[in-house]
Amino acid sequence: MKEIQITTKSALHWHKRKMPANWDLNIYRGCSHRCAYCFARYSHSYLEDDAFFENVYVKTNIIENLKRELSSKKWQREAVNIGGVTDVYQKAEEKYKLVPQVIETLVRYKTPFYLITKSDLIQRDLDIIIAASKIVDIIVGTSICTFNKTLSSKLEPGATEPEKRLSFLRTLSQNNVHTTVLMMPGIPYITDTSSNIEEIFRRCKHAHIENIIPGLLNLKGNTKKIFLDFIRIEFPEYYKDIANLFKGSYLSRSYGERFRQTCMSLRKKYQFYNVYQEIPPPKIPAQLKLPF
Ligand code: SF4
Repeated sequence: MKEIQITTKSALHWHKRKMPANWDLNIYRGCSHRCAYCFARYSHSYLEDDAFFENVYVKTNIIENLKRELSSKKWQREAVNIGGVTDVYQKAEEKYKLVPQVIETLVRYKTPFYLITKSDLIQRDLDIIIAASKIVDIIVGTSICTFNKTLSSKLEPGATEPEKRLSFLRTLSQNNVHTTVLMMPGIPYITDTSSNIEEIFRRCKHAHIENIIPGLLNLKGNTKKIFLDFIRIEFPEYYKDIANLFKGSYLSRSYGERFRQTCMSLRKKYQFYNVYQEIPPPKIPAQLKLPF
């Protein structure tokens, strides 16, 4: 992947959404994980089809911007979603090491955060994350749509294998960091079988993951053509059926309802209670002591 260094005007971006964190912080633009279903391509549709996977833009002044924004009197210490569009623990992060600096800055300004990744590069920073969680509220998550290695390597060729993703979350959970698994995307005929879904619930329970958030595939914008081309090549036996299910960008309401019912009954069976984990207001010790 070609690296291109850029400077930007701001680090934090507001997006009104259903999830509790409305502030996104993206260190990179572009992603080396190359997921076949990548929805982030939709928000980068001004790029060529594969450009999102071929170039990574590195926001080299992100720490400077973040410090300025967090030190503003207007900052309410709302939760920040690290990597709302691209995975921050992608290849370029091995070299730039910006995530630890972002975490340190958020902690300094007493700001809680979410961090979602599919990469075990996070192992490098586990000590920092665990230390930070003693000062501000943190939720760390990963997304897992299957534990089948062959399937995962086709769907998410650049990401760490799912078993290892669960393993870093287990370590965090054992160290009292809140953890969550995004069980997504549910892909018709491929990851939506009840045995596949139940395996995810069962293994997450054994790994002491606190929460599972299921979600279905959506194919907005140019993602639809790219994904259906991928299905035609890799899973030709399902191509017609999947294409028929996507008249527009989303699956039908009745399909969504069946998927929701399956997840609800497994949520009950494996005793996962929360739909979304809310980050409570910041817990701030009288004397803030930074561990790094
Ligand atoms: S990790 Fe996310 S941003 Fe990166 S390729 Fe996969 S879906 Fe796209």
